[in-house]
Amino acid sequence: MNETAQGLRTTSVGSLPKPDYLLHARAQRARNEISQEELDELSRRATQEWIRFQEEIGVDIVVDGEMYRGDMVAYFAENLEGMGISGLVRSYGNRYYKKPIATGDIRRPAPITVDWWKFAQSLTEKPVKGMLTGPYTIADWSFDNHYGSRRDLVMALAEVVRQEAQDLEQAGAEYLQIDEPAVSTRLDELDLVIESMAVVTSGLRAHTITHMCYGRFEEVYPRLLDIPVDQIDLEMANSGLELLEKFGAHPFTKAIGFGVVDVHTHKIESVDEVKKNIRRALDYLRPDQVFIDPDCGLKTRTVDEAKAKLRTIQQARDEVRSELVRA
Ligand SMILES: [Zn+2]
Repeated sequence: MNETAQGLRTTSVGSLPKPDYLLHARAQRARNEISQEELDELSRRATQEWIRFQEEIGVDIVVDGEMYRGDMVAYFAENLEGMGISGLVRSYGNRYYKKPIATGDIRRPAPITVDWWKFAQSLTEKPVKGMLTGPYTIADWSFDNHYGSRRDLVMALAEVVRQEAQDLEQAGAEYLQIDEPAVSTRLDELDLVIESMAVVTSGLRAHTITHMCYGRFEEVYPRLLDIPVDQIDLEMANSGLELLEKFGAHPFTKAIGFGVVDVHTHKIESVDEVKKNIRRALDYLRPDQVFIDPDCGLKTRTVDEAKAKLRTIQQARDEVRSELVRA
Protein backbone atom coordinates (compact mmCIF):
# COMPACT_ATOMS: atom_id res chain seq x y z
CA MET A 1 0.00 0.00 0.00
CA ASN A 2 1.20 3.50 -0.67
CA GLU A 3 1.33 6.28 1.90
CA THR A 4 -2.13 7.53 1.00
CA ALA A 5 -3.82 4.17 1.22
CA GLN A 6 -2.35 3.57 4.66
CA GLY A 7 -3.22 7.01 5.91
CA LEU A 8 -6.33 8.40 7.53
CA ARG A 9 -6.65 5.52 9.97
CA THR A 10 -9.86 5.57 12.00
CA THR A 11 -10.26 5.21 15.74
CA SER A 12 -12.28 6.54 18.70
CA VAL A 13 -11.15 8.84 21.45
CA GLY A 14 -12.01 6.29 24.14
CA SER A 15 -15.33 6.17 25.90
CA LEU A 16 -18.47 4.86 24.23
CA PRO A 17 -22.02 4.88 25.61
CA LYS A 18 -22.98 2.06 27.91
CA PRO A 19 -26.02 0.04 26.82
CA ASP A 20 -29.12 0.31 29.00
CA TYR A 21 -28.68 -3.11 30.60
CA LEU A 22 -25.23 -2.06 31.81
CA LEU A 23 -26.38 1.33 33.16
CA HIS A 24 -29.12 -0.52 35.00
CA ALA A 25 -26.66 -3.07 36.39
CA ARG A 26 -24.26 -0.33 37.54
CA ALA A 27 -27.10 1.32 39.45
CA GLN A 28 -27.97 -2.05 41.00
CA ARG A 29 -24.36 -2.59 41.98
CA ALA A 30 -24.26 0.85 43.66
CA ARG A 31 -27.21 -0.30 45.80
CA ASN A 32 -25.47 -3.64 46.44
CA GLU A 33 -28.25 -5.56 44.68
CA ILE A 34 -25.85 -7.50 42.44
CA SER A 35 -22.27 -8.67 42.93
CA GLN A 36 -19.16 -7.17 41.31
CA GLU A 37 -18.79 -10.45 39.36
CA GLU A 38 -22.27 -10.08 37.92
CA LEU A 39 -21.52 -6.49 36.92
CA ASP A 40 -18.17 -7.49 35.38
CA GLU A 41 -19.89 -10.13 33.29
CA LEU A 42 -22.22 -7.52 31.81
CA SER A 43 -19.30 -5.11 31.29
CA ARG A 44 -17.56 -7.85 29.29
CA ARG A 45 -20.71 -8.44 27.24
CA ALA A 46 -20.93 -4.72 26.41
CA THR A 47 -17.22 -4.60 25.55
CA GLN A 48 -17.69 -7.52 23.19
CA GLU A 49 -20.64 -5.82 21.48
CA TRP A 50 -18.68 -2.61 20.91
CA ILE A 51 -15.60 -4.42 19.61
CA ARG A 52 -17.75 -6.42 17.21
CA PHE A 53 -19.42 -3.22 15.97
CA GLN A 54 -16.10 -1.49 15.35
CA GLU A 55 -14.83 -4.54 13.47
CA GLU A 56 -17.98 -4.74 11.36
CA ILE A 57 -17.69 -1.16 10.15
CA GLY A 58 -13.92 -1.41 9.63
CA VAL A 59 -12.41 0.83 12.34
CA ASP A 60 -8.62 0.51 12.21
CA ILE A 61 -7.69 0.99 15.88
CA VAL A 62 -10.46 -0.11 18.20
CA VAL A 63 -11.28 0.81 21.80
CA ASP A 64 -12.98 -1.13 24.56
CA GLY A 65 -15.29 1.84 25.15
CA GLU A 66 -14.50 1.90 28.90
CA MET A 67 -17.59 -0.15 29.76
CA TYR A 68 -16.17 -1.00 33.19
CA ARG A 69 -15.33 2.57 34.19
CA GLY A 70 -17.38 5.35 35.66
CA ASP A 71 -15.62 8.69 35.99
CA MET A 72 -12.26 8.81 34.20
CA VAL A 73 -10.42 10.27 37.20
CA ALA A 74 -12.27 8.56 40.08
CA TYR A 75 -11.72 5.17 38.43
CA PHE A 76 -7.94 5.51 38.74
CA ALA A 77 -8.07 7.21 42.14
CA GLU A 78 -10.11 4.31 43.53
CA ASN A 79 -7.42 1.88 42.42
CA LEU A 80 -4.43 3.74 43.86
CA GLU A 81 -3.06 3.71 47.37
CA GLY A 82 -2.79 7.18 48.89
CA MET A 83 -5.97 8.35 47.13
CA GLY A 84 -9.54 8.30 48.29
CA ILE A 85 -12.85 9.81 47.26
CA SER A 86 -14.28 12.86 49.02
CA GLY A 87 -17.86 13.39 50.10
CA LEU A 88 -20.19 15.14 47.68
CA VAL A 89 -18.85 18.36 46.17
CA ARG A 90 -21.09 20.86 44.47
CA SER A 91 -20.43 21.88 40.88
CA TYR A 92 -22.38 23.74 38.22
CA GLY A 93 -25.25 24.90 40.37
CA ASN A 94 -27.13 21.91 41.66
CA ARG A 95 -24.99 19.06 40.42
CA TYR A 96 -23.05 17.12 43.04
CA TYR A 97 -20.19 14.74 42.46
CA LYS A 98 -17.51 12.97 44.45
CA LYS A 99 -14.00 14.24 44.01
CA PRO A 100 -10.79 12.20 44.43
CA ILE A 101 -8.48 13.28 47.21
CA ALA A 102 -4.77 12.60 47.76
CA THR A 103 -4.33 11.49 51.36
CA GLY A 104 -0.87 9.87 51.41
CA ASP A 105 2.06 8.72 49.29
CA ILE A 106 0.58 7.52 46.00
CA ARG A 107 1.32 3.94 44.99
CA ARG A 108 -0.16 1.49 42.50
CA PRO A 109 -0.67 -1.76 44.40
CA ALA A 110 -1.60 -3.73 41.26
CA PRO A 111 -2.20 -3.18 37.53
CA ILE A 112 -5.50 -1.35 37.03
CA THR A 113 -6.60 -1.70 33.39
CA VAL A 114 -4.39 -4.50 32.10
CA ASP A 115 -6.83 -7.41 32.51
CA TRP A 116 -9.59 -5.43 30.84
CA TRP A 117 -7.27 -4.52 27.98
CA LYS A 118 -6.23 -8.16 27.56
CA PHE A 119 -9.86 -9.23 27.48
CA ALA A 120 -10.69 -6.68 24.76
CA GLN A 121 -7.62 -7.58 22.72
CA SER A 122 -8.52 -11.28 22.91
CA LEU A 123 -11.72 -10.50 20.97
CA THR A 124 -10.13 -8.98 17.88
CA GLU A 125 -7.17 -9.04 15.50
CA LYS A 126 -7.28 -5.22 15.31
CA PRO A 127 -5.08 -3.31 17.74
CA VAL A 128 -6.95 -2.25 20.89
CA LYS A 129 -5.81 1.07 22.31
CA GLY A 130 -4.69 1.18 25.94
CA MET A 131 -6.48 4.06 27.67
CA LEU A 132 -5.16 5.94 30.70
CA THR A 133 -6.03 9.19 32.39
CA GLY A 134 -2.94 11.39 32.58
CA PRO A 135 -1.26 12.53 35.80
CA TYR A 136 -1.95 16.21 35.22
CA THR A 137 -5.69 15.63 34.82
CA ILE A 138 -5.96 13.28 37.81
CA ALA A 139 -4.16 15.88 39.94
CA ASP A 140 -6.11 18.85 38.62
CA TRP A 141 -9.46 17.17 39.31
CA SER A 142 -8.52 16.01 42.81
CA PHE A 143 -8.07 17.60 46.22
CA ASP A 144 -4.59 17.42 47.73
CA ASN A 145 -4.36 16.75 51.45
CA HIS A 146 -0.87 15.34 51.35
CA TYR A 147 1.67 16.70 48.85
CA GLY A 148 1.19 20.41 49.34
CA SER A 149 2.36 21.37 45.84
CA ARG A 150 0.68 20.79 42.50
CA ARG A 151 3.95 19.75 40.93
CA ASP A 152 4.70 17.12 43.59
CA LEU A 153 1.23 15.62 43.25
CA VAL A 154 1.41 15.56 39.43
CA MET A 155 4.86 13.97 39.44
CA ALA A 156 3.83 11.30 41.98
CA LEU A 157 0.89 10.40 39.73
CA ALA A 158 3.17 10.38 36.66
CA GLU A 159 5.13 7.56 38.23
CA VAL A 160 2.09 5.32 38.76
CA VAL A 161 0.66 6.10 35.31
CA ARG A 162 4.08 5.20 33.85
CA GLN A 163 3.93 1.81 35.61
CA GLU A 164 0.47 1.16 34.17
CA ALA A 165 1.58 2.22 30.66
CA GLN A 166 4.57 -0.12 30.82
CA ASP A 167 2.38 -3.03 31.92
CA LEU A 168 -0.01 -2.39 29.04
CA GLU A 169 2.89 -2.32 26.61
CA GLN A 170 4.25 -5.52 28.14
CA ALA A 171 0.83 -7.12 27.61
CA GLY A 172 1.06 -6.19 23.91
CA ALA A 173 -0.63 -2.80 23.51
CA GLU A 174 0.68 -1.08 20.36
CA TYR A 175 -1.21 2.16 20.99
CA LEU A 176 -1.31 3.89 24.36
CA GLN A 177 -3.41 6.97 24.96
CA ILE A 178 -2.87 9.16 28.01
CA ASP A 179 -5.82 11.54 28.28
CA GLU A 180 -5.15 15.06 29.53
CA PRO A 181 -8.41 16.99 29.08
CA ALA A 182 -7.62 19.22 32.07
CA VAL A 183 -4.83 20.90 30.09
CA SER A 184 -7.28 22.95 28.07
CA THR A 185 -8.32 25.08 31.02
CA ARG A 186 -4.78 25.52 32.36
CA LEU A 187 -2.57 26.16 29.35
CA ASP A 188 -0.32 28.22 31.68
CA GLU A 189 0.76 24.88 33.18
CA LEU A 190 1.78 23.30 29.88
CA ASP A 191 5.37 22.99 31.18
CA LEU A 192 4.17 20.72 33.98
CA VAL A 193 2.20 18.64 31.49
CA ILE A 194 5.32 18.24 29.36
CA GLU A 195 7.47 17.33 32.35
CA SER A 196 5.03 14.73 33.69
CA MET A 197 4.30 13.21 30.27
CA ALA A 198 8.04 12.69 29.80
CA VAL A 199 7.96 10.44 32.86
CA VAL A 200 4.89 8.53 31.64
CA THR A 201 6.23 7.84 28.14
CA SER A 202 9.91 7.31 28.95
CA GLY A 203 11.15 4.00 27.56
CA LEU A 204 7.88 3.13 25.80
CA ARG A 205 8.05 1.72 22.26
CA ALA A 206 4.27 1.81 21.72
CA HIS A 207 2.68 4.61 19.68
CA THR A 208 1.79 7.13 22.38
CA ILE A 209 -1.11 9.56 22.13
CA THR A 210 -2.52 12.29 24.33
CA HIS A 211 -6.09 13.52 23.95
CA MET A 212 -6.98 17.10 24.86
CA CYS A 213 -10.02 19.08 23.89
CA TYR A 214 -11.81 22.41 23.85
CA GLY A 215 -8.84 24.66 24.57
CA ARG A 216 -7.23 27.61 22.82
CA PHE A 217 -4.28 25.47 21.77
CA GLU A 218 -3.26 27.96 19.07
CA GLU A 219 -2.01 30.18 21.92
CA VAL A 220 0.59 27.57 22.93
CA TYR A 221 1.53 26.42 19.44
CA PRO A 222 4.20 25.22 18.52
CA ARG A 223 5.19 24.65 22.19
CA LEU A 224 2.33 22.10 22.18
CA LEU A 225 4.53 19.85 20.05
CA ASP A 226 6.98 19.51 22.96
CA ILE A 227 4.60 17.15 24.78
CA PRO A 228 6.60 13.92 24.53
CA VAL A 229 4.07 11.71 22.72
CA ASP A 230 3.88 10.47 19.12
CA GLN A 231 0.39 11.83 18.55
CA ILE A 232 -1.82 14.62 19.84
CA ASP A 233 -5.55 14.07 19.54
CA LEU A 234 -7.66 17.23 19.26
CA GLU A 235 -11.26 18.18 18.66
CA MET A 236 -11.37 19.86 15.26
CA ALA A 237 -14.94 19.45 13.99
CA ASN A 238 -16.27 22.73 15.33
CA SER A 239 -13.09 24.60 16.05
CA GLY A 240 -9.41 24.43 15.39
CA LEU A 241 -9.38 26.79 12.43
CA GLU A 242 -6.90 29.15 14.07
CA LEU A 243 -4.75 26.21 15.10
CA LEU A 244 -4.81 24.75 11.59
CA GLU A 245 -3.69 28.07 10.16
CA LYS A 246 -0.69 27.96 12.49
CA PHE A 247 0.32 24.64 10.95
CA GLY A 248 0.97 26.60 7.78
CA ALA A 249 3.65 28.70 9.48
CA HIS A 250 5.04 25.93 11.68
CA PRO A 251 4.38 22.39 10.43
CA PHE A 252 2.77 19.91 12.82
CA THR A 253 5.57 17.42 13.37
CA LYS A 254 3.66 14.60 15.06
CA ALA A 255 0.76 12.38 14.17
CA ILE A 256 -2.60 14.00 14.89
CA GLY A 257 -5.90 12.60 16.05
CA PHE A 258 -8.28 14.78 14.09
CA GLY A 259 -11.80 15.03 15.50
CA VAL A 260 -14.34 15.23 12.68
CA VAL A 261 -17.72 14.89 14.42
CA ASP A 262 -19.22 16.83 17.31
CA VAL A 263 -19.88 14.73 20.40
CA HIS A 264 -22.29 17.19 22.01
CA THR A 265 -25.11 17.10 19.47
CA HIS A 266 -27.76 14.47 18.82
CA LYS A 267 -27.58 15.41 15.16
CA ILE A 268 -25.72 12.95 12.98
CA GLU A 269 -23.36 14.73 10.61
CA SER A 270 -23.68 14.00 6.91
CA VAL A 271 -20.94 12.07 5.14
CA ASP A 272 -20.22 15.20 3.10
CA GLU A 273 -19.72 17.34 6.20
CA VAL A 274 -17.27 14.83 7.61
CA LYS A 275 -15.44 14.54 4.29
CA LYS A 276 -15.05 18.30 4.31
CA ASN A 277 -13.50 18.13 7.77
CA ILE A 278 -11.09 15.39 6.69
CA ARG A 279 -10.06 17.46 3.69
CA ARG A 280 -9.33 20.44 5.99
CA ALA A 281 -6.75 18.25 7.71
CA LEU A 282 -5.20 17.30 4.38
CA ASP A 283 -4.62 20.95 3.51
CA TYR A 284 -1.91 20.94 6.18
CA LEU A 285 -1.04 17.33 6.99
CA ARG A 286 0.00 14.15 5.18
CA PRO A 287 -2.58 11.30 5.17
CA ASP A 288 -0.25 9.00 7.09
CA GLN A 289 -0.01 11.61 9.87
CA VAL A 290 -3.76 11.83 10.33
CA PHE A 291 -5.94 9.60 12.50
CA ILE A 292 -9.66 10.29 12.12
CA ASP A 293 -11.98 10.12 15.14
CA PRO A 294 -14.81 11.92 16.95
CA ASP A 295 -13.97 15.15 18.80
CA CYS A 296 -14.03 13.50 22.21
CA GLY A 297 -15.40 10.45 24.02
CA LEU A 298 -18.88 9.49 22.79
CA LYS A 299 -20.18 8.30 26.16
CA THR A 300 -22.68 11.14 26.46
CA ARG A 301 -24.48 10.08 23.28
CA THR A 302 -26.97 7.22 22.99
CA VAL A 303 -25.71 3.90 21.65
CA ASP A 304 -27.54 4.50 18.35
CA GLU A 305 -26.19 8.04 17.97
CA ALA A 306 -22.64 6.91 18.68
CA LYS A 307 -22.93 4.08 16.16
CA ALA A 308 -24.34 6.41 13.51
CA LYS A 309 -21.53 8.92 14.04
CA LEU A 310 -18.86 6.21 13.85
CA ARG A 311 -20.42 4.78 10.67
CA THR A 312 -20.46 8.23 9.10
CA ILE A 313 -16.79 8.76 9.95
CA GLN A 314 -15.90 5.41 8.43
CA GLN A 315 -17.82 6.02 5.22
CA ALA A 316 -16.39 9.53 4.84
CA ARG A 317 -12.88 8.23 5.39
CA ASP A 318 -13.35 5.43 2.85
CA GLU A 319 -14.62 7.88 0.24
CA VAL A 320 -11.85 10.41 0.82
CA ARG A 321 -9.26 7.66 0.75
CA SER A 322 -10.44 6.24 -2.57
CA GLU A 323 -10.62 9.72 -4.06
CA LEU A 324 -7.01 10.29 -2.98
CA VAL A 325 -5.84 6.98 -4.41
CA ARG A 326 -7.52 7.76 -7.75
CA ALA A 327 -6.16 11.31 -7.90
ZN1 LIG B 1 -12.13 15.20 25.15
